[in-house]
Amino acid sequence: MGLVVQKYGGSSVADAEGIKRVAKRIVDAKKTGHQVVVVVSAMGDTTDELIDLAEQVSPIPAGREFDMLLTAGERISMALLAMAIKNLGHEAQSFTGSQAGVITDSVHNKARIIDVTPGRIRTALDEGNIAIVAGFQGVSQDKKDITTLGRGGSDTTAVALAAALDAEVCEIYTDVDGVFTADPRVVPNARKIDWISFGDMLELASSGSKVLLHRCVEYARRYNIPIHVRSSFSGLQGTWVSNEPQGDRKVEQAIISGVAHDTSEAKITVVGVPDKPGEAATIFRAIADNEINIDMVVQNVSAASTGLTDISFTLPKTEGRKAVDALEKTKPKIGFHSLRYDDQIAKISLVGAGMKTNPGVTAGFFEALSNAGVNIELISTSEIRISVVTRADEVNEAVRAVHTAFGLDSDSDEAVVYGGSGR
Ligand code: ASP
Ligand code: MG
Repeated sequence: MGLVVQKYGGSSVADAEGIKRVAKRIVDAKKTGHQVVVVVSAMGDTTDELIDLAEQVSPIPAGREFDMLLTAGERISMALLAMAIKNLGHEAQSFTGSQAGVITDSVHNKARIIDVTPGRIRTALDEGNIAIVAGFQGVSQDKKDITTLGRGGSDTTAVALAAALDAEVCEIYTDVDGVFTADPRVVPNARKIDWISFGDMLELASSGSKVLLHRCVEYARRYNIPIHVRSSFSGLQGTWVSNEPQGDRKVEQAIISGVAHDTSEAKITVVGVPDKPGEAATIFRAIADNEINIDMVVQNVSAASTGLTDISFTLPKTEGRKAVDALEKTKPKIGFHSLRYDDQIAKISLVGAGMKTNPGVTAGFFEALSNAGVNIELISTSEIRISVVTRADEVNEAVRAVHTAFGLDSDSDEAVVYGGSGR
């Protein structure tokens, strides 16, 4: 029997009852003969509450202290979980990220893991303990300060530990039964996916699917760690995310894996840009110099009569203000006409490696939107994804229409959301 890493999200350990329920599951895994490492998130909405508290004290809390504060959430749940396990008659020890050897760079609030040296975890396991590790945190290599990995970062902690400890699998326990063909909150008859490749999962994650973070999947792919996403509230098999279907489960690669949507982006249109070399470069240099990530970019054909064109792009709404200010500053240099900012948009994406070899997927996608009366504002594609931008208030209808058109609907409403937030 090998080693398993299990990660429990905040809604699975929201209260004392939840912690006791999770403790039982962990002990069951240990009883099957596995060595068990558990990564745990902060209880319920603790992280949000700590953020609120910090903002009441200071509008711009310093990164170092902010991280020190936020990591307290996971310390509470790790200690309580270890106590609950001991209460069931099994040995457990809890460790902070730093004690577990999670070494990061020094970018507070969104640090990246650069090394994992889990010596103390190995020792604890060899002595017969279940090791409980606080997720979402590490220690910076240079200054030895406590860091956090960005919201939802516990999944990344779990995969990183699984890689460093050469685990058989990284189980991510959440409040839904796995990865679904669409967000079950929007499409009640979405279907649970039994197996999905890292590639399709990465596209879903970057297209707005919230069940797994892009960074965590990227890490798992790099070290080839199979992830099993499942519910801590049911005993059901969840979704396997890996290079190949696991063991004897002969699952065929679906043509379409799912439909994702994202309402966190805004669209900026630069109107009346002179159609000559260097203009797009200047615009996007100004954006990049402000550390703003952009997503879709579209340039129109210029009108022959004016020699002017429009350039549109999407970006996180949270960066909207900064981007508009940066562009206003380049106006004298470029001489564009005006800027249009629109945050009432949604992005809908269809993802599946099978679209490479199945002509007609793009046409079917656009037909489904057209039948639903949804207007397309921007289009972008990759080899295994098509995305469109629509009006925000049409997103639910559009997602359902596309889901049905590609035969993804399940006969029953199998998607159950057990907890609160889907984390
Ligand atoms: N507690 C942190 C958050 O809420 C990390 C996590 O849940 O993964 O973002
Ligand atoms: Mg959380």
